Order: sequence, then structure tokens, then C-alpha cells
Amino acid sequence: MISSNTFQLQKIVRKNILNLKPYSSARDEYQGKNGIFLDANENSFGSLIHNEHQLNRYPDPHQKLLKEKIAEIEQINTENIFLGNGSDEAIDLLFRAFAEPSLDSVLICPPTYGMYEVSANINAIQLIEVPLTTDFELDIDKILPHLTNQNLKLVFLCSPNNPTGNILNKNHIETILKNFHGIVVIDEAYQDFSKEISWTKKLNDFPNLVVLKTFSKAWGMANLRLGMAFADAEIINIYNKVKPPYNINGETQRLMLEGLENKSRKYRAVDDIVSEKAKLLNRLTNFAFVKKIYPSQANFLLVKVENSNQLYDYLVSKQIIVRNRHTTLLCENCIRITIGTNMENMMLLKALESF
Ligand SMILES: *Cc1c(COP(=O)(O)O)cnc(C)c1O
Repeated sequence: MISSNTFQLQKIVRKNILNLKPYSSARDEYQGKNGIFLDANENSFGSLIHNEHQLNRYPDPHQKLLKEKIAEIEQINTENIFLGNGSDEAIDLLFRAFAEPSLDSVLICPPTYGMYEVSANINAIQLIEVPLTTDFELDIDKILPHLTNQNLKLVFLCSPNNPTGNILNKNHIETILKNFHGIVVIDEAYQDFSKEISWTKKLNDFPNLVVLKTFSKAWGMANLRLGMAFADAEIINIYNKVKPPYNINGETQRLMLEGLENKSRKYRAVDDIVSEKAKLLNRLTNFAFVKKIYPSQANFLLVKVENSNQLYDYLVSKQIIVRNRHTTLLCENCIRITIGTNMENMMLLKALESF
């Protein structure tokens, strides 16, 4: 087996990306704040709406202020942060930087987040699927033989996993990190709801680790489309080469900075969601049609019922929308319920009582 010190970034980046001369924007070439700006062909007369936030001007392409704030919160250096238009952009750019279309492959462990497969298909990257075991753990013995495949460039692990809600075994993840010559992505979209420490704490140990987080879930800012990737500075440099120059718009940067002044609201929301989850779980166990509720370290419950299609249609008729996962591998007759407010959960339970 290879050990992690054989990881060499230059060897796994696509050649065209390694040699790429990135686009240099007006805001790259002159970074001063003051002056008469006649360099970016903006409309100097103003924008369609109020001008207090300079909507007529291009935003900071490097999101300097926002990264400094995130660095403080995550206790990490700004050079280890990439910001994307949602995590979905951070996922897609990994494919474009590391995986050669029609040649390379990516490994995922279904059932898991659907975007990894969609991104693979968009980029013409072969998908290697090693399903989770029936208790939703990594099937490490089946994963290991794939790691020596030189065309395998990316492994996506989601922990806590969507839609199953569980944390993946840490020792298994570490084994993969140590024995793989490519990039291991750990998607921590739901980590805020769990009791586990973040894999960002292990970035110094693993030069091939990318940790994804998002402002869309616990932070309550899904509308702004802001995702984060944390990794070794070399990987972040690659991200910065391939990203669209102004991928994070100015209003997103401004509103996130403003929002992060209230970051205690996030911690309170997480506490509320976790306690609502416990209450909901407790009540759901009383229904005869509920066959199993999977342990969840996320902000949703995966629930196996007698007939999920029937239950889903019934709930829709009551204008309560859950996610039917019946056709997902290992999730037969399962519905995924996002934890709502106390009121919303009560309405759900009330509806379920007359099902
Ligand atoms: C919701 C979710 C995301 C978030 O994606 P954004 O593009 O940042 O909104 C990422 N990964 C997983 C597993 C998710 O469930």
C-alpha cells in the first residue's frame, strides 16, 4: 500500500490545469481601494437600484474580508480556504481540476449526496460505486483495492452522510486518506449538527484532504449560495486558478459578513434543531407504520415506513412536503424528514395521526 507521503499534487492535477495561465481581472491588476476606476468597463454612472453598496462595481474576486472572518471562526488560515457558489461549485471544480474527461474515475459510496454523480456525468468521469454496508458504514475492504487504480483521482465521502444521517467510521476514513494517491473529499455539510470534531483539524496531517462545508444548512443562509472548501494551500491555489474570476457576488459577501456578526444565532438554531429532532424521533416511534428510524447526526431523520409512496402522497395532500427516498439504494420505503420548527413538526405529527 502507498502511504500518504507519496501524494504529489503535480502528479494528479490535469496537465492543462497545471499549465494554465489564469484569467487576470481588473481587480487583480490593481488592488488599491481609492481612485477613479476606469479599468473594468463598469457603468460609472451607477446601477439600476440604490448605489450604497456599489452594485455597479465588480466584487472582490478573492473575498478577502469574508475569508478573514471565516478563518477566525474555523481557526484556519485564509490560504487554506476556497469559497464557491454553493458547495456544488466546490465539488464541480474538483472534477475540472483533477479528473481527465473520458479517462479518469471517481469513487463514491451510495446512498449519498446526488451531486457527486451529477458532476461526474457532466464532466464525463467514470463513476465507481462502492455501496455502504446495510448499516450505512464504509465497506472498507471493497474500497481499498480501488485506491491503487492510477486513474482514480477523487474519493467523495459524506459525513454525516446524506440521506442516511450517520457519521462514517473515522478509522476507515483515515485508512483511505493514507492509502490513496488522489484527493479525498469529506463533505461536512451537516457536521455542525453532530458531536464530532471537524476533519479540518486534520488538514495538516493529510495533504490530499479537502473538507467541504456550507452556509446552506446550520447557518441558515442557503439563499446566498456560499460553500467552503478547506485544504492544503497547494490545492486552494488550484481552485483559485480554475474558478470563475468573480464567482462570489458582492451582495453574498456583504450579507455573509453582516450575518457572521450574529453567529451565536447559528449555535442557538443548532441546539433548537437537535432538541426538536429528539422530540420528533420520540413521537415517530409510536406510529405502527414506522418500521425504523435511523440514528441521525444531521438535521433530518431517515425513516423507514410500511409504504413510503403512499405516505408521501398523503403528506403532500396535507401540504407537508418530505423527501421520498424509496428508489434510492438501501433506502426502500424510506422518507427523509428535515427537522422543522416546533410548530411545523407538530403539524406533521398531527397529519401522521390521521394517516
Ligand atoms: C445540502 C448539501 C450540500 C450543500 O450544497 P450547497 O451548494 O452549499 O447549498 C452539500 N453537500 C451535501 C451532502 C448536502 O446535503
